[in-house]
Amino acid sequence: MKSVAVASRGPGSGVPRLMRAVVFTGPNAFALQEVPTPRAGAGEALVRVRASMVCATDAKILAGKFPATRFPHVPGHEFAGDVVDSADERVPAGTRVGVEVHVGCGTCERCREGMYTLCLNYGKRETGHAHVGFTIGGGLADYAAVPIAALHTLPEHVTFDQGAWTDNLGVALWAIERGRLRAGERVVVIGPGAIGLCATQLARALGAGRVTLVGRGKRLARVRDMADEVVDAADVARLHGTADLVVEFAGTADAARDAIAAARRGGRVVLGGATGAGVELTGVDLSTIVRGNLDVLGSLANPKGVSGRALELLSQGKIDVTSLVTHHFPLERFEDAWRTFMERREGAIRVMLHPQAGT
Ligand SMILES: [Zn+2]
Ligand SMILES: [Zn+2]
Repeated sequence: MKSVAVASRGPGSGVPRLMRAVVFTGPNAFALQEVPTPRAGAGEALVRVRASMVCATDAKILAGKFPATRFPHVPGHEFAGDVVDSADERVPAGTRVGVEVHVGCGTCERCREGMYTLCLNYGKRETGHAHVGFTIGGGLADYAAVPIAALHTLPEHVTFDQGAWTDNLGVALWAIERGRLRAGERVVVIGPGAIGLCATQLARALGAGRVTLVGRGKRLARVRDMADEVVDAADVARLHGTADLVVEFAGTADAARDAIAAARRGGRVVLGGATGAGVELTGVDLSTIVRGNLDVLGSLANPKGVSGRALELLSQGKIDVTSLVTHHFPLERFEDAWRTFMERREGAIRVMLHPQAGT
């Protein structure tokens, strides 16, 4: 790759004209490329990316499963950095920020309710809607132009590495809040991936009683301390009918069935994993829900600025995201990072890219 030249007139002082970015060039094809550094448009800030993670959703984007994503595309929706160019005095240059990914049009009925994750103008850039890393370029790059509505100023003691969890923590917190967790309640979390582990810790931080994490694989041993109890998915039957609140972040029909079965009569079930189309739920006796008087709720992403409150909990040390990042790479080793994560090498939970490493 060519070295990146610093132009005398860039998008902001000291910002190079060209940058490195992971580019999804077409379905199932990617490369690290030198591309023009984006400019912050109206209502945007240019963020120098310091920490940026890969997520299973990126694989779906790469496979072409998001119709609103146009190739070539710069992915990355779990990241933090510092503002280097902004025309908005609310986020001046130097502000340390984490990014949440949904930006609503601001004027449709759902946006006006604060539910901008359900924006009726999804994908219509001309209305102001943006989905960072999905419908607009993201943070697997040296720089990203991000709508200011998507930025959260990082609390003083939150590092960039922690701040990259801004979106994930919001997703997990919204699911817990959907489930109306009360102090001392028995909680079961199904799915020991990154978001499930955030939900597990948040449930504890918010005063749950016993928190049980259900999953399988090598990762369970690594995160044992984050829950009061860890149960292999093969043994989930022993949890049937026990939980006040079940939160599911596994994304499979089996997990959804297990979640419904684990709820006690009158309990709540929050399903958050199956965000893509094509997972059908069969084999549930409806009387379990009806006679059980269950609340079965879907939970999508992180509306209402919930990520900002999640960051406060992070700053108080109530959530440990540091140990969920099992691998760190400089940006130029993106391919290694991608394979490590996608193949779950060495029990990988999250891999983190550091575009500014060595610069
Ligand atoms: Zn993600
Ligand atoms: Zn809207």
